[in-house]
Amino acid sequence: MMQKLIDQLKEKHIGTIKENEPLASHTTMKIGGPARIFVEPNSPESVITAVKIAKVAGYPYRVIGRGSNLLVADAGFMGVIIKLGKGLEQVSIQGNDIHVGAGHSIVTLASIAGKNGLTGLEFAAGIPGSIGGAAYMNAGAHGSDMSKVIQKVHVQFLDGEAKWLTTEEMQYSYRTSVLQKIRPGIVLECILTLSKGEPSKIREQILANKKYRKDTQPYDFPCAGSIFRNPLPLYAGKLIQDLGLRGYTLGGAKVSEMHGNFIVNNDQATAQDVLDLIAYIQGQVKEHYQVDLETEVEQLK
Ligand code: FAD
Repeated sequence: MMQKLIDQLKEKHIGTIKENEPLASHTTMKIGGPARIFVEPNSPESVITAVKIAKVAGYPYRVIGRGSNLLVADAGFMGVIIKLGKGLEQVSIQGNDIHVGAGHSIVTLASIAGKNGLTGLEFAAGIPGSIGGAAYMNAGAHGSDMSKVIQKVHVQFLDGEAKWLTTEEMQYSYRTSVLQKIRPGIVLECILTLSKGEPSKIREQILANKKYRKDTQPYDFPCAGSIFRNPLPLYAGKLIQDLGLRGYTLGGAKVSEMHGNFIVNNDQATAQDVLDLIAYIQGQVKEHYQVDLETEVEQLK
């Protein structure tokens, strides 16, 4: 059955296809087992073809971007991982609008925008995700997020429909979009609308945002950014820090010494180490503050 699926994927020339690909090397946490089948599609059409083939064959599938918000299970994924990268990196700029493929790096796009005198994406300097992952997560920082710059998003819904969704239809709120729970779908491309700005000022802001991150977040160890969503108006990092948990270690996973809301892969951590540490922190925060911390990092299992 599995061989038939692999043969079908290869016959369609949809891009790179690998078997038993270690997913740890496709995530910023550097944790997780292999993907039974790993596809890097060469175009948006190929993404759709890969999904259709996996669906008909009855195998689970999941789309990933740059793996910067993912905790992959130690056992890996016994289905098809579709990584949106190289084949979906097209960029074109017309006036204040940027048309960009879901596989493009958001950090690089912020620089390209700045060089073209377009302001609004500086907040993304230092967010190591793809445009697709950022549109799905409503990634944000420095008081802004994707909902402020997205004009529309081209989505392939898992029920077969493909549609451009407006920002309103994406139902954006804090680190949330309609695609997460309400109606699952794959972001293929986006149109962002920015404003005219001075390239040198934009570059200055990008450098300042990157410096702020280097000063306040752990860059020496693999991690996935914030582990928990902030229980607004409270901040997860502050609650964890106030409990004295910075530096707390379980197995190879450790609460960052620099930032309470970051768990770092300190020493060959397993996904189970990270899950145990997440559960421990959640228990402590509940006991001391009666607050339920929800994870921002997504599990792939
Ligand atoms: P992945 O991690 O590959 O996937 C995350 C989820 O998105 C998965 O469920 C996946 O299925 C889904 N997904 C990915 N691509 C698509 C697509 N094309 N269509 C539909 N679903 C898709 N985040 C912030 O918001 N603000 C920050 O300041 C921030 N700082 C970070 C700092 C560091 C050092 C790190 C490591 C991470 C940080 N993050 C931050 C988290 C992360 O970068 C963002 O959530 C980012 O948007 C994830 O994009 P990705 O391409 O890596 O997605």
